[in-house]
Amino acid sequence: MDDKDISNAVIARLPRYYRYLGELKNDRIERVSSRELSRLMHVTASQIRQDFNNFGGFGQQGYGYNVDYLYDEIGKILGLDHIHNMIIIGAGNLGQALVGYMNFKNRGFVFRGAFDISQNVIGKKIGSIEVLPLDDMPEFVRNNNIDIAVLTVPKTAAAGIAKELVECRIKAIWNFAHIDLPVPDSIKVENVHLSDSLMKLSYNLHRSEDDTNTTGAAE
Ligand code: ATP
Repeated sequence: MDDKDISNAVIARLPRYYRYLGELKNDRIERVSSRELSRLMHVTASQIRQDFNNFGGFGQQGYGYNVDYLYDEIGKILGLDHIHNMIIIGAGNLGQALVGYMNFKNRGFVFRGAFDISQNVIGKKIGSIEVLPLDDMPEFVRNNNIDIAVLTVPKTAAAGIAKELVECRIKAIWNFAHIDLPVPDSIKVENVHLSDSLMKLSYNLHRSEDDTNTTGAAE
């Protein structure tokens, strides 16, 4: 199977499938049909079948899918059968919250180190991880088999740090800084722009209020 042939839209839906299948697994449900999954997830059954066909279909539809098998296979596609060693750069409020969030570890995403330039946080412990000076980062990345760097620094600092990470041969960056990072295509970047998401929510909130007002005025 060539990943390049699979659309980003399909890949973006995989974590949601994985989450729902995890819930079914917890409820000890052994088989699920695309129709049942469709009802749970509010996605059409044909969309589910089409998505799964990208990966060979995952078994006989007539008898439903084996939940354990499907969960494991989607987990493998998402790379969750590997441990990922991560560091955080920028141990402010957001960085500390991410390091402290245990659910990542349950999925195999393990924070190994945290780095900052501020004396206010260097030396501070977040759980078992001590915040180290940024200068220690390149050696740490090389010696600890780090795959993912999480960037929670101000945007003015992010491009420079991304450049350093490229030199350390980091493989992937989870970027919370509000900037598109200047890195080569070989480095995988996932941007999480929290304020964009909040603005989208605000837009939808106000649009629905406007609709209500318009409808009210028309009555
Ligand atoms: P947060 O935004 O996470 O709440 P904050 O408000 O304390 O944190 P920010 O200015 O957003 O501060 O910076 C986040 C963290 O990034 C801080 O701990 C800051 O010291 C750190 N930081 C700033 N510049 C750099 C840099 N060049 N390298 C590493 N860390 C940096």
